[in-house]
Amino acid sequence: MRKTWRVEAEWVCGGEEILRDDGGDIEEYEAWCASLQRPWWEHQEQPSAPGLPDAPPPLQGDPIAPVPSLLLPLPLLAPFTFFSSSDAFPTGYVCPRCGRVSFQAHLRHRACPSSHCRPAPALQSPRPAESEGWAVEAECVRDARGVAPCTFVDDACAHGTAALPVSVHDDDMRVFGYCLAGPIQAANSVLLAANVGEEVGQPKNEDGEPPPMSLLGSLEAWHLFAWHLFTCNDYGLQEDASALFEGIQRHVRLKRQLAGACFSSEIAVSTDAPPEGDGLALCAGQIKNFVESRLSAYLEELGSLRVQKIIARAYVNAGKCREPYRAQIEGGACLAVVCLGADAIYSSIDTNTQRDPSSRSGKLASALSVTLIHGDMLVLRGGLFQFSVTRTGMCILLEVLCSPTDNDSAGS
Ligand SMILES: [Zn+2]
Repeated sequence: MRKTWRVEAEWVCGGEEILRDDGGDIEEYEAWCASLQRPWWEHQEQPSAPGLPDAPPPLQGDPIAPVPSLLLPLPLLAPFTFFSSSDAFPTGYVCPRCGRVSFQAHLRHRACPSSHCRPAPALQSPRPAESEGWAVEAECVRDARGVAPCTFVDDACAHGTAALPVSVHDDDMRVFGYCLAGPIQAANSVLLAANVGEEVGQPKNEDGEPPPMSLLGSLEAWHLFAWHLFTCNDYGLQEDASALFEGIQRHVRLKRQLAGACFSSEIAVSTDAPPEGDGLALCAGQIKNFVESRLSAYLEELGSLRVQKIIARAYVNAGKCREPYRAQIEGGACLAVVCLGADAIYSSIDTNTQRDPSSRSGKLASALSVTLIHGDMLVLRGGLFQFSVTRTGMCILLEVLCSPTDNDSAGS
């Protein structure tokens, strides 16, 4: 016995019609609506197979047509605006133009990578409105309990880390300095020669008697230095940082790896004036001015420094960064870390142990914990630093490498 089965399938769109509005071009919109009535693999209407009835007319415009069920997961359809929650950051999205589902790789932008949506080579520069990301204000991501003006930092140092004298400036900026122990034996020999008679490993900040600056100067070759530029939550001192926080979100395409928590990008630095309407170049110039002006105003002793490289890293929620933060700073250069948004805590990892694994002098390990609030800057100088970074919410951390200017290099 021989049987013939005939199966009829009806194509219905899966809810894509809600992804796009007419956008002003009604003809294009109607053509797109008509394309939804056919399977995506069949662009042209095909004649019915022999023996089968003709295909039913499209359902478009039929007021009593059955509403197709939405096949796409709803989170993929959510708009990406400042209403998007950092706690439930989207993993992906559906492109309303071509229907491609993409990974949400950028912090504040969406750019469909399909060939249909990629701009033609002649149109590589999208209009500013299309290239600009959305932004939230710093106040929205900071803990409301930590925004009141304060005088003292929430830093801690021990095990060979000495606190330098605090300098208070006319605009209320406070600079807290720390000297982290370098190679212990070398430092001890200098201290003994200076008749200090105590080990570098002993904390010196507990008795409120910081070591003399001249002695620290003689130890500079063996030590690491860190300065915390503390804004005291002063609104005036945080104003530029708030503008940077929003500008970076709008103009810098911070990107993450698949399933990564860190959105990062290197921002090109130029000494030329930014071209008209180039938000990214304008943003780079603002970061450069921010860092250079603060270094010259509050850390004059470091000499004249120029920004060489800017790396921005952003995180959407609280947590501890998986990889420790490492920075090798040579010569007269320094690294400035700028915190924007929620607080970030940098805790030093013992660099001595890293250099000498056989060392048992655990009590001599250097330790420093610095809590950076919005607008604060951590300046590092002197060698290899390793920090674990803990963030308390959505924040952007700028790592800015600064080198001495040519004149200073020639003079020193
Ligand atoms: Zn697309």
